[in-house]
Amino acid sequence: MDCLFCKIIAGEIPSTKVYEDELCLAFRDIAPQAPVHILVIPKQHLASANEINAQNSTVIAHIFACIPQIAEKEGLSSYRIVSNCGTDAGQTVHHLHFHILGGKVLNTEMA
Ligand code: AMP
Ligand code: ZN
Repeated sequence: MDCLFCKIIAGEIPSTKVYEDELCLAFRDIAPQAPVHILVIPKQHLASANEINAQNSTVIAHIFACIPQIAEKEGLSSYRIVSNCGTDAGQTVHHLHFHILGGKVLNTEMA
């Protein structure tokens, strides 16, 4: 499958990993929009949050259990979790990902 993030998971494209286990991978965003900008992705290819269902949602729950640990390791007490779902929402990579943004006072405007 021609998917950038699947290639990162496979090690075919380099990334700066900050966390990895059997279900998910977290790595630094290549174009950070905050001092800390990490992407957390399921190892299973899901195109977006629109593909989350009762069968695969345990992986999503697992990711949300990992995020506080990743944030703590990065020294973040406040942070934002973002997932752009669909092109009009700003999704450019069609493999589900959760942005962790922090390390500064974030813009309160969300849309
Ligand atoms: P989105 O626009 O929500 O789909 O987010 C995709 C994110 O992936 C953007 O913030 C990009 O900067 C980031 N990105 C694209 N290519 C890479 C890469 N090779 N390594 C790390 N982050 C990337
Ligand atoms: Zn993928």
